[in-house]
Amino acid sequence: MTELHARASGDVLIHLTGIQKYYGDYHALRGIDLDIRAGEFFSLLGPSGCGKTTLLRVIAGFEDVSGGTVVISDRDMTKLSPNKRPTNMVFQSYAIFPHLSVTQNVGFGLRKRSDLNAEAKARLVAEALDMVGLGGFGGRAANALSGGQRQRVALARALVLRPKVLLLDEPLSALDKKMREQMQVELIRLQRQVGITFILVTHDQEEALVMSDRIAVMFEGEIAQLAEAEDLYRRPVSRRVAEFIGTMNFLPATVDDDVVEVAGLGKIVVDDLQSIATTDGEPVVGFRPETATLLFPGQTSEGRVADGSVTEVVYYGDMTYYDVRLDGCDAPVRISMRNVFGRPVLDIGTQARLAWSPGALTLFR
Ligand code: ADP
Ligand code: MG
Repeated sequence: MTELHARASGDVLIHLTGIQKYYGDYHALRGIDLDIRAGEFFSLLGPSGCGKTTLLRVIAGFEDVSGGTVVISDRDMTKLSPNKRPTNMVFQSYAIFPHLSVTQNVGFGLRKRSDLNAEAKARLVAEALDMVGLGGFGGRAANALSGGQRQRVALARALVLRPKVLLLDEPLSALDKKMREQMQVELIRLQRQVGITFILVTHDQEEALVMSDRIAVMFEGEIAQLAEAEDLYRRPVSRRVAEFIGTMNFLPATVDDDVVEVAGLGKIVVDDLQSIATTDGEPVVGFRPETATLLFPGQTSEGRVADGSVTEVVYYGDMTYYDVRLDGCDAPVRISMRNVFGRPVLDIGTQARLAWSPGALTLFR
């Protein structure tokens, strides 16, 4: 957890029970039970088509449910229209009006607020623009903005209404990598500053890990795992979740009571493993590339080691990725090593010794 993450207050703000959604015969949401806390940065993560946008639209009220209830702030809002809910949505396409100024775009959502006079509206718009770092841009034409600035306008337009919940559907997917990373940090800061509950939809596992207090991983209309980022990465509940979140090495394993024999690593007492998860196929033992270490010439290890040889080297500047074929195991494992100053990059074909720990391994069975 980074210090950037706000701690959610813990009160349940959104309480979904048994949410079902059919589009004709197609079963898009298959019984979603989910509590989202007030002040939380929550992400819905999953591959394209798994139902993330549908679930977000159900929360916002743009989509009827085929079953189940949507309770927000202790009120059953299942049948309420979007404008009667304390939610606001930032769409995947920003839906900015190009011919209007930034101020007019942001003020658009306030046009029906007869309880506010022009002065009050102008103040709210200015505050919203300040929040997203666009103070001073109000007079600009929206079509004269960069992609990142347009994204901010879309955010400001949602924030100006002071919703309890901001729903963000892949808001950064149109931005290039640098801008996306910058906006990720800004969104976390913003969320902390305004204290609004954010629900982010993304298919990008790194984005979800970076930004969220908690993440729900979805496959085919169901939640496969709901956890904090670190838990999700370290203790996936299934092979499918593990493969979706980051990179994991899988080694064939045979389980005999309380001992696992792992190809390339040898015998391990089950109790020494980090965790146990499920798989559809044969048992395997998995570990992340950064949890094992290549020993460089002269280095030794007190712990367990395995010998092999380097079959591939990918140099990233700050990191090097090595594929290592362990003796007694056909498929190579990937190891990531930080390029500490003075440390050589090993060549393909080098005999290598891997230091590893049972405490970093997950048994999938
Ligand atoms: P995601 O946002 O995770 O990519 P969606 O929620 O948009 O997924 O869609 C989930 C599934 O429901 C997809 O198979 C999609 O084709 C289908 N779907 C979404 N909206 C409609 C609709 N209006 N009519 C019919 N099928 C839809
Ligand atoms: Mg979607």
